[in-house]
Amino acid sequence: LISLKDVHLSLGRDAGRVHILKGIDLDVAAGRSLGIIGPSGSGKSTLLMVMAGLERTDRGTVRVADADLTALSEDRLARFRGETVGIVFQSFHLIPNMTALENVAIPLELSGVRGAHDRARAELAAVGLEQRLHHYPAQMSGGEQQRVAIARALVTRPPLLLADEPTGNLDETTGAQIIELMFRVSRERGMTLVLVTHDSALAKRCDDVIRVRSGRIEMLDAASSPRPAPSADMPAPAPADGT
Ligand code: ATP
Ligand code: MG
Repeated sequence: LISLKDVHLSLGRDAGRVHILKGIDLDVAAGRSLGIIGPSGSGKSTLLMVMAGLERTDRGTVRVADADLTALSEDRLARFRGETVGIVFQSFHLIPNMTALENVAIPLELSGVRGAHDRARAELAAVGLEQRLHHYPAQMSGGEQQRVAIARALVTRPPLLLADEPTGNLDETTGAQIIELMFRVSRERGMTLVLVTHDSALAKRCDDVIRVRSGRIEMLDAASSPRPAPSADMPAPAPADGT
């Protein structure tokens, strides 16, 4: 579903310009889950924004769900985002003066879909919030707000769910429930899930895990990567008996 080749991206202007992604190669097959870990500032969120069509790259190819994002006009890119991607953030990004139902209905109303409230209600039921339809964000717990955000990400039925530290503002138990929910719905619906997290135990629950460091993908432990071939310029170890 996702294929990135030699992706480079810089942000900022003039002397403040920073090279953030420095040659990212990455493939994620449809229906699989990918965990992304790595130190703060390494480029994890930026990488997610590239997959979401929210940041343009300087170089390389970005293909998501058969679209070449580098070639799309702003209009087509906006449509891509609306149809293909659901995103969940650490801070839930709900609109405070709208109820749970209204928040979840927004993406459908923006694209003029009929029956937005009925579908929003069904998504809220799917995340276990049928009792909170008319609550405002401030009247809900953090875990409930994140469920609303997940329902909003799912309501357009996108093939791709992106999550950037979705448990970062939640206690451990609530965070675990949110992760369970995201794994369950993405599996049930055959969605591809990309999860950025600093929690490597969480990341390991994904089908694949990558670590980003200084804008590059770093090899992980030997278990998940092929054994390196012996290098030609390294002498073979001497026999132990010295002969
Ligand atoms: P964290 O774990 O703290 O969320 P991250 O891995 O998600 O970190 P990013 O948010 O992708 O990191 O940022 C990568 C680097 O890009 C950081 O050094 C950040 O300061 C820099 N950066 C992000 N946005 C901009 C911008 N608009 N202009 C300049 N630099 C930026
Ligand atoms: Mg980040």
